[in-house]
Amino acid sequence: MPEDIDIAALCNALGIDALGVVSAGPMRSFDMYRQIIGRGLPPQLDYLWRNADCRRDLEAILPGTKSVVCCAVALPAFRGDASRRYARFCTLGDYHQTLRVKLQGLDACLRAHFPIAQSRICVDSAPVLERELAVRAGLGDIGFNRIVSHPELGSFIVLAELLVDTDLTEYREKLSFRANPEPAEGAPGARACCPPGHRACVRACPVGALTEDGYDLNRCLAYWTTQHKGDIPEPYAAAMGDMIWGCDRCQKACPRNRNAVPAAAQASPLETLSFDDILTLSARQLRKRLADTPLADGNPNLLVRNVCIAIGNMGDSKYAVRLGNIARSHACDWVRRAAERALKIIGDQ
Ligand code: SF4
Ligand code: SF4
Repeated sequence: MPEDIDIAALCNALGIDALGVVSAGPMRSFDMYRQIIGRGLPPQLDYLWRNADCRRDLEAILPGTKSVVCCAVALPAFRGDASRRYARFCTLGDYHQTLRVKLQGLDACLRAHFPIAQSRICVDSAPVLERELAVRAGLGDIGFNRIVSHPELGSFIVLAELLVDTDLTEYREKLSFRANPEPAEGAPGARACCPPGHRACVRACPVGALTEDGYDLNRCLAYWTTQHKGDIPEPYAAAMGDMIWGCDRCQKACPRNRNAVPAAAQASPLETLSFDDILTLSARQLRKRLADTPLADGNPNLLVRNVCIAIGNMGDSKYAVRLGNIARSHACDWVRRAAERALKIIGDQ
């Protein structure tokens, strides 16, 4: 019986920190999304254009979708230097797989209570406008930094969705865990949560990616450091400081995260991966060390490039020999150039 379900116990057992349900239907923020990507996308993000129309309606993802169960999982904080160097999402290991396992458990349990015939798990794996779904499911609102912020968990969360072909909205209250079952309606846009002039996220962004007019993906350091395969132009390279993967400055500065409780810390292989390791390991060895992290599927050259840039920004001469080796013999030309940049900065000091 649906009445028997204890959603809090289920979420606690699965490690889901908030859950809400929303009815399917045309996505209200689709036009806004088209406008944003219409302003121009960097080449590595071309796919956002290719599958843009799928985001208009969930029918394109799972025909017959009636409801979406939206989940949020709080991110643990890194310990030590890694907290400055990596974006917080990197703490969750292979987070696609981690989230998929949680949603598989959720799917199995919901099927035992509801007549669900078809379902689909989305963990960054399908083109859905997940921020809109999360807001309409009562999980929070979108801050001026364009990130969903949950009232208790803050914005250091990851989102995942379970699309089902059964209408669950009648049980919305019963199926809400740390979610508002009656959130405000309408197309969710960025909320003006701090008054103009006091927007800590805007002031914290070192590259002007957040403005009153919107968020410019082409400037964001999260894009340059984790997606862009090539040279990072100088203003962005300098703005990275000693950060090497992603950028959370607009979230770290947000007062809404001040009282948010992070998930329990868990050891990450990134915490013990030193700059020396990254500069000396072969690509194969580095991939091995990056297993069980969100960097595992990517090109390890991006990380080597970013470390060279960070060392240059720090002006740390103790890596000069290793940088020299990379500048001379690394197989990738833009990694070599990042090492040359660092050596030049260190030499000019
Ligand atoms: S992630 Fe960094 S670069 Fe991107 S908008 Fe936030 S502060 Fe700016
Ligand atoms: S810093 Fe202020 S304006 Fe920016 S997301 Fe947080 S509350 Fe909103």
